[in-house]
Parts: sequence; C-alpha cells; structure tokens
Amino acid sequence: MPTNHLRANGERFWDTIEASAKVGPGIAGGLRRLALSDSDREIRDLFRQWCEAAGCTVTVDQMGSMFARRAGREDLPPVMVGSHLDTQIAGGRYDGIVGVLAGLEIIRTLNDQGITTKRPIEVVNWTNEEGARFQPPMVAAGVFAGVYDLDWGLARPTRDPGPNEGATLGEELQRIGYAGAEQVGGREVDSYFELHIEQGPELDRIGVDVGVVTGGYAVRGMLIRIKGETAHTGPTPMEKRKNALVGAARMIVAADDLGWDYAGSDGKVTAARLTVSPNLAGILSDHAELSLDLRHPDPAKADEMLTELERRIAQAARRSQVEYEVIERWVFGDEYFDPDCIDRVRSAAAELGVSHQDMLSQAGHDAYHMASKYPTAMVFSPCGDGITHNEAENTSLAAQLPAVDVLLNAVVSRAER
Ligand SMILES: [Zn+2]
Repeated sequence: MPTNHLRANGERFWDTIEASAKVGPGIAGGLRRLALSDSDREIRDLFRQWCEAAGCTVTVDQMGSMFARRAGREDLPPVMVGSHLDTQIAGGRYDGIVGVLAGLEIIRTLNDQGITTKRPIEVVNWTNEEGARFQPPMVAAGVFAGVYDLDWGLARPTRDPGPNEGATLGEELQRIGYAGAEQVGGREVDSYFELHIEQGPELDRIGVDVGVVTGGYAVRGMLIRIKGETAHTGPTPMEKRKNALVGAARMIVAADDLGWDYAGSDGKVTAARLTVSPNLAGILSDHAELSLDLRHPDPAKADEMLTELERRIAQAARRSQVEYEVIERWVFGDEYFDPDCIDRVRSAAAELGVSHQDMLSQAGHDAYHMASKYPTAMVFSPCGDGITHNEAENTSLAAQLPAVDVLLNAVVSRAER
C-alpha cells in the first residue's frame, strides 16, 4: 500500500472551503454560523450531501454530531478525523472548518486512488464546539468521550438575546432536524485526528507549514454568580453598598493582574464574559455573572494559579461586600496526545518533506475531550498573523495544503494498522 505519499486534490479542497464560506456569511467577509442556527442546518445539509456523494454513510448522534463513515476492508473500530463547522458570532471561514473538510478531502482522495483502508474512516462534525450559543464549548465531544452526561448536554440553554433565550440545545437540535438517533459515544474508536488552524501567530511567523501538536495548555475555568443588593445610587452611603457590578469589576482586575504575574512563564488569565442586572443607571446591581479562565503550559502551575485566583476573588468580594458562588467549573487541556498518533503525524510530515515543529495548543479543541478516552493527535496549519475568532481570519490554499496532506497520510497509515 503506498500509504505515505498520497496527495490531496488542493483545488477541490479549496472549492469546498469556498462553498462553505457562502453559508452563514458575516458582515466583514467571515462567517456567523452559530451552532444549531439555520445556517448551521444549511452547512450540515451540505456536508451530508458531500459525504454521501463520496460514498459515505452519515449518521447523527443524540447530541447532533455527524459521522460520515467510509467502510474499511475489515469491520474494526474506525479512525476518526474531523473538527467543527460552527463558528463564533464574528468568526472566520477556516477555524475548525478546514479540519472537517480536510477529512472529507481524505475520503475523496482515497476514492480517486481506489484505496480501501483496513479500518473504516469516519469524518466527524462535532456540535457546538465554539460555545458561542451554548456553554460550555466542545460539549458534544465531551458527551461523546463521557466527560459530560447526555441529559446535561441536551439541557444547555442558549444565550440568544430575546424571545429565544433559554431554549435548550436539545430543543434547537429538534428544531433544525439534527436530533439524531445514534447513542452518543459508548462505542469503540481506534483513534481521533484533528486538523485545526493554529489560532496563534507562531507557524506564520517562523514560516513552518505544520504544527505537530503534542498536547494542550492546561485550562481551568469558572462561572461565578455574584450577589449584591439593589439600592438607590443617590442616597445609599458608600459603606452600605453591595454593588454586584463593582464586585465583578474587582474580580476582573484581580484576574487580569494574576495573568500579568504569570505572563513570564506564558500563563494567561482571561475575564471573558460579564452579565449584570438590572444594569441600569439609577440603581445598584444585585446580580452579576462572570466567566473567568486561566491557562498555563504546565498543569501544576495552572493549579497553583487557580488557588491564587480563588484567594483574590474572595478578597475582591469582601472588599466590595458582595456574596458569590462558583456555579460552574471546567478543566481541560491536561490530556497529552498519544505517542503513536503524534508519531504518525510527524513521520507523515517528514516523508512528505513538509516543514514541521512540535507545539502545544493554547485554545481548547474537541480533541482534548477525545484524548481523555481515545488515542488522539492534532495537526495545526498556519493562521495568517494569528488572527482568529475574527472575520478577518485569513489563510490560503498554499498555507493549508501541506497540513491536509500530512493529515491524509497520518490518518491512512493509522487506518492500515
Ligand atoms: Zn475551532
């Protein structure tokens, strides 16, 4: 089997990327294709058509994740390859989309070459990777890997403003016709490979074609509910104020300061989202919700940062006389990827003569959850100037094709195992 020197059809791959970029356009050349929106339904329908036309059997699980299966010579657990087709509210055209459509290109290339791999190959489109409409992100891959319960996943409420606020992920799946019948996870998977744009500037800056991702930055996140008391902004003396907005503000500053304290070893802390009510000019706020997360390349340091963050949050709450509770926590990125799968990515790059470098991922990916249960590896492709989660996200076929070829050869070699 000539498994190490397959080449994808770049023109066809890029035409497919361009076709995807027409579905759910943003206002500045990017995409606004939120999970389980009408445009998500449209791209799912199109993806299904493309996969079926390539001879795959497409199934949808109860979390709405789509699996396009190309049979192998033997009925063994499949090699999975994929990512996500949903985007942020002002997202780019490439993000995880290159990963899913590269999976499709693998199938098409194998069809062209008349190759049937020993193991089946399944291209997957995970539901709600971005977490822009439903928190947390990567929820469907998390349920698949047994990190979250199915019922909990389906009950995640939207953050849509207006009358749709609070509709659940399960209801939205029903609405767009993607509440599948397939059990989520609970089946054997040989391995999982994911191509994603780097979402950082490193590969672009150093002019290397492919990042061999060996693992992720450890991430610790929390959603904090802050309780204050409404009162008139005029007569209420300073010492009597319990303004949830101020409590949140002090927590945000404390979090950001902590990020700077660890910046020398590449630690980061992010205050990502704040909601306040009643959020009106004449009244002190009695309620706020704040989402914070921190990252560090070393999981032990991430834990140390978390302890310090909690100490500073408590201090900020005392100082502003508000009460608070942490209502949600999340941890990911500690799982290191599988040596055999990583090696197949590295070898494919070497054999194809593609420049490559080992790196850690700093963003969360579906692959993190998959890595908690199955042998997993990731391939990063360059991202112009590192701009991402932005409609200005930019890249080219020339920048992406080496990574697609590396993915193709790594996946096929594993499928021959
Ligand atoms: Zn992504």
